[in-house]
Amino acid sequence: MHYTKEEINSMAAANTFGELPVSITKNENLENLLKLDLPEAIKDPVSNDDLYHRYFVKNAFWHKIPAFASITEEEFLDVKFQNKNTVRKVEKLIELVGEIAPGGFIDDVKEGMELAPMNLSISPYILSLIDWNDPYHDPLRIQFIPVNSRRVADHPKLTLDSLGEQGDSPVPGLVHRYFDKVLFLPLDVCPVYCRFCTRSYAIGGNTETVDKVKFTNAPQKWNDAFAYIASRPEIEDVVISGGDAYMLAPDRLRLIGNTLLDIPHVRRMRFATKGPAVMPMKILSDQKWTDALVEIVDKGRKMGKEVVLHTHFNSPNEISDITRRAMLHLFKKGITVRNQSVLIKGVNDTAEKMIHLIRKLSYMNVQPYYVYQHDMVSGTEDLRTSVGQTVELEKVIRGVTAGFNTPLFVTDAPGGGGKRDVHSYDYYDETTGISVYRSPSVDDSKLYIYFDPIDTLPASGQKLWEDESLHEELINNAIKSSGFTSLTPVL
Ligand SMILES: *Cc1c(COP(=O)(O)O)cnc(C)c1O
Ligand code: SF4
Repeated sequence: MHYTKEEINSMAAANTFGELPVSITKNENLENLLKLDLPEAIKDPVSNDDLYHRYFVKNAFWHKIPAFASITEEEFLDVKFQNKNTVRKVEKLIELVGEIAPGGFIDDVKEGMELAPMNLSISPYILSLIDWNDPYHDPLRIQFIPVNSRRVADHPKLTLDSLGEQGDSPVPGLVHRYFDKVLFLPLDVCPVYCRFCTRSYAIGGNTETVDKVKFTNAPQKWNDAFAYIASRPEIEDVVISGGDAYMLAPDRLRLIGNTLLDIPHVRRMRFATKGPAVMPMKILSDQKWTDALVEIVDKGRKMGKEVVLHTHFNSPNEISDITRRAMLHLFKKGITVRNQSVLIKGVNDTAEKMIHLIRKLSYMNVQPYYVYQHDMVSGTEDLRTSVGQTVELEKVIRGVTAGFNTPLFVTDAPGGGGKRDVHSYDYYDETTGISVYRSPSVDDSKLYIYFDPIDTLPASGQKLWEDESLHEELINNAIKSSGFTSLTPVL
């Protein structure tokens, strides 16, 4: 039998982290229902493990970082503490976790940084959630801290701007690829830097190996983008990304929001930010920022326009009770929050992890919107999965929860084809790892090609890629097999 009184009570007691769950509060209606003869069950009983997504880390998890051992909750929730203690240099990493990281780890990071296309930036929140007994397998370490020992040689087709965004930019910092929607990039900084950033060509400052395109966080630089949007009547939808809207001062957030709302044909706006996943306390403690967001959303609603927040959780390990409270705050203010994840090996590439993530997000009223096939970005080969693995994962995921909380698994077609349902390829060869897509809404004369990571291919496939002189033939064969030889492949 399910949900007997005992089970509800034992659920309330059980929690791997030893904290109270948030979902079960006793009330009269529930008590009365449980007095009735409970109907016969037709499903196997559920275990607490099945409901694990309802538990949110509530303890002072940051105390395990020696330097934060006496930091109170109030201090930790202060966004100023988070910003001040953000790790941007290996020296700071040594200072904070040198004592608790395994021997050799820090040297591994130093070597990893030498070739990394992204700079280091980790919030104290994320740093404190990493399992420092085993950082190598930790899904947060994998996302934010490169280590040389896990490096995998890049597929020959990886690039820094794999989506070809610069080719679709009428003015710097604006991408107009689709008919009625644009991507506005008002700044090039974020509260953290993700190793796998699709905008490795621009975001987060120069590294030892990459000289970056700059998007300046300055209102006078944005006017060209605003003017372009105002001049194109078909644009109804503006994604404000970057970079990260978390890093915009409240008056700049307002300026962008108000300017775009005042353009009559703009009907929908989304502010994109990794913030809730990496520094959720800002929503609770940076009242000016949150108020500015709420103000724009409310103003939009009064004008009949939708303004929402798009965020970027990849792992349930990023989610704590602080996150739950922050998301609840936004929900109560009437703000729709949707999530876009990147599918990353070791982070969310198993059904168990992805289901946990999706259910946990849904539980906080954050709608899982997309899961992206990892872009073909230089320096990230160890993080990608094959299209075949992603399609299989999608099959398992669909149906585990409400359809509107089930993300669409998409490949952002390399070279600017835009987002494609990952299993909508016209041809896929699991041996060579080549998939071929069409994208009629973006350009019906082109073919777009994605390449699986070579180390996921069967031995016979890996062998084919060893000989560089065969590469062109492999690609041509895939195009022929797709049957779309009259279209122009984008390579
Ligand atoms: C992802 C993206 C959008 C928004 O696309 P949706 O599918 O509506 O989320 C708009 N422009 C560009 C260039 C994008 O990459
Ligand atoms: S937060 Fe987004 S834009 Fe910033 S580094 Fe991460 S993926 Fe890139």
